[in-house]
Amino acid sequence: MKIVLVGFRGTGKTSVGRILANRLRVPFFDADVLVERRAGMPITEIFGEYGEAHFRTLEREVIASLRTVEGVIGTGGGAVMNPENVADLRWNGTVFLLSAAPDIIHGRIAGSDRPGLTALPPAEEVRTLLAQRKEAYLGAADACIDTGTRTPVEVADMILRQIGGEAVLSPDKQRERDDLLGKFGLTAVREMIERDPGLRVCGIAGNPCAHSKSPLLYNRLFAHFGMRYHYTRFEWPDAGTIIRLANLLPLKGLSVTIPFKADVMRHLDEVDDHAAAIGAVNTVVRCGGRMYGHNTDWLGVRAPLVHRRGGRAVVLGAGGAAAAAVYALISLDMDVTVLSRTPDAAQRLAGRFGCRWGRLEDFKGSDADVVVHATPVGMEPDTRSLLAPRDLERGTTVFDLVYTPPETPLIRAAMEAGCETIPGTEMFVHQAAEQFRLITGITVPPALVREMLA
Ligand code: NAP
Repeated sequence: MKIVLVGFRGTGKTSVGRILANRLRVPFFDADVLVERRAGMPITEIFGEYGEAHFRTLEREVIASLRTVEGVIGTGGGAVMNPENVADLRWNGTVFLLSAAPDIIHGRIAGSDRPGLTALPPAEEVRTLLAQRKEAYLGAADACIDTGTRTPVEVADMILRQIGGEAVLSPDKQRERDDLLGKFGLTAVREMIERDPGLRVCGIAGNPCAHSKSPLLYNRLFAHFGMRYHYTRFEWPDAGTIIRLANLLPLKGLSVTIPFKADVMRHLDEVDDHAAAIGAVNTVVRCGGRMYGHNTDWLGVRAPLVHRRGGRAVVLGAGGAAAAAVYALISLDMDVTVLSRTPDAAQRLAGRFGCRWGRLEDFKGSDADVVVHATPVGMEPDTRSLLAPRDLERGTTVFDLVYTPPETPLIRAAMEAGCETIPGTEMFVHQAAEQFRLITGITVPPALVREMLA
């Protein structure tokens, strides 16, 4: 058994860790103490003499050495900022995030001789670092416990109850969960949770989503990273019911697809700035009973186009994927024009981001460095392309977001015209890698995602 405690300084990791280790009769590994042993000096001196970077290197070595241990591990507050640490901590382990409000943390650590990590006054430093680390903490955790109003013994008891498989739902809620799982055709998921109470669930929310490759990808990644997780499909006509079921499950994250990307937002506790600006959420992270919405589609468009920063771009289409594309292109300082068969839709999207707009027929003469195609034209079994080779200039980069078939009619036309081509699978690969990082705290190289999808 490997239990890992992460969280800010002053959230009780050391006290809770010692109690847990005692109760379970297993060793307690305090990563900060192990760093001090390795350096032969206290942390204050490591910081004073060699700086934070050296401390992080030692911390990395210590956490790598704890990958396969059995016992309870308490980490330093900033350890989860390094995704390699998270991968080691998660390996065959259960990670609990201990949290508390900033003023409570400040009260608990006031008077400590630990050096500050910023030049800010202590209370301000706590608030700032908590905000900076929020995404990493929520991603790295399997479960989250607020220690603000609980004693270390109470927190340890909660963790022991959770790992012991004690029911967290009332009998009524359990019946509701089982009813919904039955209606969704997911009785196998109920059996899996009953067999393994430590199992975490993730899934894709969509209608339809039977075609999605996400279950294959995620379940392979979970096995690769030694995580007790199962990824399933939540196919249902309304997002509200999916979220109701999600809240009754030990669910960590959701991928969200058509037609729920906009609608799901009203069911969430928080939506980040990128998703709010795009008007769509494709990723939900759940921790401590709260749901956090993100958008990684725009990063899926952005990553393969970073080499074209500052050029002229045309987006074909004005729907959800087009909005993510416009947001990505603007983040690359591109001059963007939106073209759509419905000019009103193009005008509305362009108006939100202050770019130009027009009809599809206006493409000729647009002199684009980059073309992003964001309509379903050319998606199997459709064999049409909105552009012919004669419409395109040699050297233009053509990114077709359609990914079935892998070589679309537009990609073939672009190759014939001597363009650089990027297939829609690349958007999927990059958005999935970012989504996996948000849900698990682990960074996956795009090459590994491609390999897992093959
Ligand atoms: P959407 O919100 O329904 O928007 C579709 C857009 O395509 C609208 O602007 C629509 O124009 C236009 N359109 C539809 N049929 C057309 C046609 N026959 N001729 C010209 N324009 C047409 O859909 P979406 O979510 O943006 O998805 C668009 C495409 O992106 C899909 O093919 C999807 O597979 C792809 N996609 C790929 C990824 C990936 O990971 N690679 C991710 C998301 C989406 P009207 O307003 O005139 O109907």
